[in-house]
Parts: sequence; structure tokens; C-alpha cells
Amino acid sequence: MNSLTRRDFVKSVGALSLAGSSAVAGIAGCATVGGAAKPKVVVVGGGFGGATAAKYIAMWSEGKIDVTLVERGDAFVSCPLSNLVVGGSKSIGDISVAYDGLNKYGIKRVKGEATGFDPDKKTLSLADGTTLPYDRLILSPGIDFMLDSLPGLTSADARAKVLAAWKAGPETVALRNQLTAMTDGGVFAIHIPKAPFRCPPGPYERACQVAWYFQQSKPKSKVLILDANEDVISKKGLFTKAWGGQFKGLIEYRNNQEIQDVDAKTNTLKMTFGEDLKADVLNVLPPMRAGTIATANGLNNSNKRWCQVDWLTYESTAVKNVHILGDSLQIAPLMPKSGHMANQHGKVCAAAVIALLTGDVVNATPMVANTCYSFIDDKNVVHVSSVHRYDAAQKTMVVVAGSGGLSAEANRTEGVFANSWARNIWADMLT
Ligand SMILES: Cc1cc2nc3c(=O)[nH]c(=O)nc-3n(C[C@H](O)[C@H](O)[C@H](O)COP(=O)(O)OP(=O)(O)OC[C@H]3O[C@@H](n4cnc5c(N)ncnc54)[C@H](O)[C@@H]3O)c2cc1C
Repeated sequence: MNSLTRRDFVKSVGALSLAGSSAVAGIAGCATVGGAAKPKVVVVGGGFGGATAAKYIAMWSEGKIDVTLVERGDAFVSCPLSNLVVGGSKSIGDISVAYDGLNKYGIKRVKGEATGFDPDKKTLSLADGTTLPYDRLILSPGIDFMLDSLPGLTSADARAKVLAAWKAGPETVALRNQLTAMTDGGVFAIHIPKAPFRCPPGPYERACQVAWYFQQSKPKSKVLILDANEDVISKKGLFTKAWGGQFKGLIEYRNNQEIQDVDAKTNTLKMTFGEDLKADVLNVLPPMRAGTIATANGLNNSNKRWCQVDWLTYESTAVKNVHILGDSLQIAPLMPKSGHMANQHGKVCAAAVIALLTGDVVNATPMVANTCYSFIDDKNVVHVSSVHRYDAAQKTMVVVAGSGGLSAEANRTEGVFANSWARNIWADMLT
């Protein structure tokens, strides 16, 4: 969906009446929205949801909306493909993209930590004391961890030893280094929390990548998957085929493996049932919730964990003029927490925010798609896909009957597609 005009996109996702006026003309006639010369949109988070929303608002409004992107990181580092860095077939440089590509759209970029917002004054605050005024605020902060249930991981030292590596970056490299330092014959154990969490197939893909590395370099070693869920929650047949086939004897899967705590000093999991379990390299994915900027500011109105939105605009149901995208959302049925999905949220939200700021009509029938590839080894890949449409009666997104699909088996052609998918979606967000 690279370089689509807003009109093309809106047409492609459903019928939208532009009420006889172009989006740009509408904005030009809206010179004093929020008391400013141009309407102001501030986006927090330069990941899959936020970077997409910032780019598409700036591009589709042709600079008639003032867009500021606040991001704490220096560059975008992709979680998709980051398991290949753990497995050793890609480097962190291969999955990093600079933010400079957004400059040509006139997006103002602010490197900093957003800490809170004032919904009455419509201002966002940053940790360094900066205040940014907005007419519409868009938050796509991803996930943060719920460490209350795992006191052994509350200290930074413990988390530097027992890594999650569930936000791509230095931890991804550190986990790779732990694996290369491990002696042959060791055990890598990954603990998976109860769903929902970021990227349902991601932990199983990681297990395959580590097994692939062991197969070549440390064949006496073993991968242990300790899943708190009752069963494999994504692409089950495809993953279990690999575990019983090319990785037979290398990967062991155990279900219902709930933990009470982690002892980082000894790399030990304190199991709720059964004996404690020690590993040479321990990788714990703690339970997850919406990003802290959302939870610390009252947007987590679903089990105090995730954020509910109006699926037509992605506006929070808790706070007006604040929109939320990506992994922080309380998902609609069968909607995964994926980068592809967050990118689609970003586009629907961009079109809606432009419409809201210009008195235009918001699309009443948005439709989004998801494709999620998983690498079994460095070349063979499987995918799952789905299409989701807005259901006006239920006021949520539902899967389109008969849409989507699943690979028949892991194959090299999808390996080529998966690498292209990554390059294309990074370009779509960031160039
Ligand atoms: C190992 C792994 C593999 C994955 N594989 C795939 C895959 O193959 N396909 C797929 O579609 N998805 C995949 N995902 C899931 C995908 O990465 C997420 O669903 C996606 O990143 C969600 O986008 P987001 O915008 O919600 O969050 P993110 O992309 O994480 O972006 C959030 C951004 O906000 C910034 N931020 C947060 N809070 C603040 C703040 N207060 N101030 C300033 N900046 C802030 C962060 O630095 C970050 O850059 C994978 C995830 C993992 C962990």
C-alpha cells in the first residue's frame, strides 16, 4: 500500500463519501482549528502504528496538517525478523531503519520520552519539560511488561540477565550473545505468558531460530518451550511439524507451564506446579499490557490492561481527542497484536483524523488485513493471514468469512516473500 493517495486507500477499504470536497480543500478551509494556523497532530511512538499514522497524515493532507512525531529511540528497529538476529542469520543493522525518510513529508521529529497529557488543555508533556499542543493526539506506544506478578524481575539487573528481548534492540543482541557464549550441551528455555501478548507466533518462531542455530553450531544443546497456555496458540500444525521433523530431539514443548517467579541469579523459573526449572540461557516474556504512556494516563479501560477505541477513528473510549493504535489496543475478535495490523490501524486512523480535523466524513466501513510470516529456519517460512471488516451492529472489527489462510507447509518461496514483506512495510512506514 506504498504511496497510495488517501482517496485510493479509502476507496480500497470501503465506501467513503468525501461530501463533495477534497480532503485538502477541507483542510485549507479550516485555518483556525484548535486556535492554530494549521491543525496539530502529535504522534507518540515511531513504531509500526505511530510512524505509519504520522507519515500518512502528513502525506494525505499534503502538509496542511502540522504533524509532530515523538519517539524515544534514535532509529526504528523491527521486531519482525528480530528472531533471525537471535538465530544468527541477520544482524541488528539488517533490521534497523533511520527516521530521516520522514523528513520529506515535513514531519517534525522530537526525540524524547512522552510522560503525560492534559486532555483539557490538549497538551502532551515530555520528560525534559517540553509541552506540545495538539488538536488530536495519537499514541502507539507498543507494550510494556506487568512485573508485579514476577518480583524477581523487577530490578534492572535481573532483567539484564534474564532477558525478554521482546522489544527489538540491544536486548536482541544481548540474547544472541548469551547463546553464542553458551557451551554445547546447554539448555535454552523460553517462557511464554498467557495470551494475549505481542505477536502470538513470535515465541514459537524464536524457538525454531534457536534450534536452527544449535543444529549447526551446538548440536548437543536443547530448546525447551515452557508455555503458560493450554496449547500452541498460533500456527500450531506448522510449528509442531517442524519440532517433530527437522528439529526432532532438539525442541521440547510443554504446555500449562505457569510460573510464580524468576530467580535471575541462578537462571531458575519458580514453577506454580512442579519442580523449579533451571536453564543455561533463560528467556522470559513477562505478561504484557499497553505501553506506559497509555496505562499511566487512564486509557487502559479494558481490565486495566489494554485500551478500548472506536474502531472507525481509533479514538479512545476513555479520553476524547486521543487516538490509540497497535499493540496497546484491546483487540477485536481474532485480531492479532502484529506489526502488519498496527500499520493498518495507522492508515485507518490517519484517514479518520484528517476527516475529523476538516469536517469531512469518516469512513463508515473500514477494512484491514493481516499477514504474519514466521521463519522456521533461515530460509523456510510459513504464514497466516486474515481480513477484518467493521461490523456496525457489533461496533467492532470481525473476520471476513472465507478470508485469509495458512501455509500448507514451510517453504522457500515464502522465505522470499517474508523478506520482501519486511522491506516493503518498513518503506511504507518510514520512507
Ligand atoms: C520477536 C517478535 C517478532 C515479531 N514478528 C512479527 C511479524 O513477523 N509480523 C508482524 O506483523 N508483527 C510481528 N511482531 C509484532 C510487532 O512487532 C508489533 O505488533 C508491533 O511492533 C506493534 O506496533 P506498535 O506501533 O503498537 O508498537 P511498536 O512498533 O513497538 O512501536 C512503539 C514505539 O513507541 C516508542 N515509545 C513508547 N512509549 C514511548 C514514550 N512514552 N515516549 C516516546 N516514545 C515511546 C517505542 O520506542 C517504539 O518505537 C513481532 C514481535 C516480536 C517481539
